[in-house]
Amino acid sequence: MADRTVDVAVIGAGSAGLNARRTAEKAGASTVLIERGPHGTTCARVGCMPSKLLIASAEAAHGVATAGRFGVEVEGPVRVDGAAVLERVRRERDRFVGFVLDSVDELPPEVRLDGAARFVGPTALAVEGHGTVEARAVVIATGSTPFVPPALDPIRDHVLVNDDLFELPDLPESVAIVGGGFIALELGQALHRLGVRVAIFAHSRNLASLQDPVVRESAASLLGGELALRRCAGLEVSGDPERGFLVRWRDDAGASGEETWQHVLAAAGRTPNLAGLDLERAGLALDANGRLPHDPATLQAGDAPIFLAGDVTDEKAILHEATDDGRIAGANAARFPEVSAPPRRAHLAIAFTHPEIARVGADFASLDPATTRIGSVDYADQGRARVMGANAGTVRVYGACGSGRLLGAEMIGPRVEHTAHLLAWAVQEGASVNELLARPFYHPVVEEGIRTALQDLGAQLEMCEARDPHGLEGGPGD
Ligand SMILES: Cc1cc2nc3c(=O)[nH]c(=O)nc-3n(C[C@H](O)[C@H](O)[C@H](O)COP(=O)(O)OP(=O)(O)OC[C@H]3O[C@@H](n4cnc5c(N)ncnc54)[C@H](O)[C@@H]3O)c2cc1C
Repeated sequence: MADRTVDVAVIGAGSAGLNARRTAEKAGASTVLIERGPHGTTCARVGCMPSKLLIASAEAAHGVATAGRFGVEVEGPVRVDGAAVLERVRRERDRFVGFVLDSVDELPPEVRLDGAARFVGPTALAVEGHGTVEARAVVIATGSTPFVPPALDPIRDHVLVNDDLFELPDLPESVAIVGGGFIALELGQALHRLGVRVAIFAHSRNLASLQDPVVRESAASLLGGELALRRCAGLEVSGDPERGFLVRWRDDAGASGEETWQHVLAAAGRTPNLAGLDLERAGLALDANGRLPHDPATLQAGDAPIFLAGDVTDEKAILHEATDDGRIAGANAARFPEVSAPPRRAHLAIAFTHPEIARVGADFASLDPATTRIGSVDYADQGRARVMGANAGTVRVYGACGSGRLLGAEMIGPRVEHTAHLLAWAVQEGASVNELLARPFYHPVVEEGIRTALQDLGAQLEMCEARDPHGLEGGPGD
């Protein structure tokens, strides 16, 4: 006999879990929200917000350090007060976390259970310190944990992850960052701009998850032009906090080297938090990659009344996708066995590097070369970008022969954070390239660069239609 019976139990009070519980309650279900760690969400506590706060300080330092090219002279070298930078990061971060804590505190005590949950039956959970909960349906929204690659095994106990970085009392002298995803690039460039000696050791094939080789190489050359970005084929580490950490590397081109670092930070992806949930007691098994198989549309795990939401799905690891997952999983859990698959938003992922990087719409790798055309712009000579001294970057836009629709884009360039939104909205609307070109473009703005790429794409789409009405020739490889 369970200590408590509810309609929907949600494991994990992150952005996905909070939204799942709220949605299930709105659908009329009784709920419990179970959290094993500190409340406040990964995004606000150790993710999106503190990383963007660090980047804001780095931008300020970089702006002052490079003001000379605009004829603005600053006396003496820029001095960064590392302790003050991190103090502001934590102060502002705590404000954001405070809003989440307020919303959790508003929950009635019977809804909020603080303790780790694990399955003890198909929909029964044991919650540390609270006995057992029997639910009609369960949402697993347990998030993810930084992955520490095996190459770092010799120093595993000393490796920093993003959570640790924001708690340092002062900026370190040096950090070797292992990983090439958006977290590695954002943190690496920010630390570099704040005067920390940094090298990023990225896997040769991954840079901010870019799939388009032209944009990926543009990103490698722009970021690599500013800081040490090594596309590694091999890495060996040794050492300890007293002597420092020796990193020996070998890159794709055959170059190699070694250097000693104060810290090594792992930003090489994240692993879904599924260990310790005793999923076998719910009749569920992980696949060979350690993921819990589920329907990406309904988020249901097999036929069970169990749904996944957020980073634990190991799909997108993006905040707005996690909250959308929460909404879908919460509704489906409340209405189980009736489940639905609401439409999803166009894909949009942004790395807040400088220049910024974004991916929009369809995966480049999934595009059919026979029916896809590519338009591009190089920001080197783009008017507004030159005015701002930010004239670097490449945008590639993809369109469909026949329909003329915009399918997606990969981009690195000035203010891509904003232009990527315009393109993502257009992809979601199903707009054609010609429809987009009929919209207003003010002068002088960076959006004019996007217009150039769309004009290039429009011309190629006209040709593919004229040459082959079925669009069977050419494609991304042309
Ligand atoms: C450094 C960094 C920067 C980022 N920047 C951005 C950005 O700029 N934009 C963006 O869109 N996304 C960003 N992200 C990604 C974003 O933060 C995540 O996609 C999002 O926070 C995932 O939310 P979630 O609810 O799935 O997980 P979480 O917020 O991690 O919530 C999961 C919760 O489950 C709890 N839990 C786990 N196991 C159990 C258990 N057994 N019992 C009870 N509770 C449990 C955990 O304690 C945790 O509180 C960033 C991430 C990082 C790390």
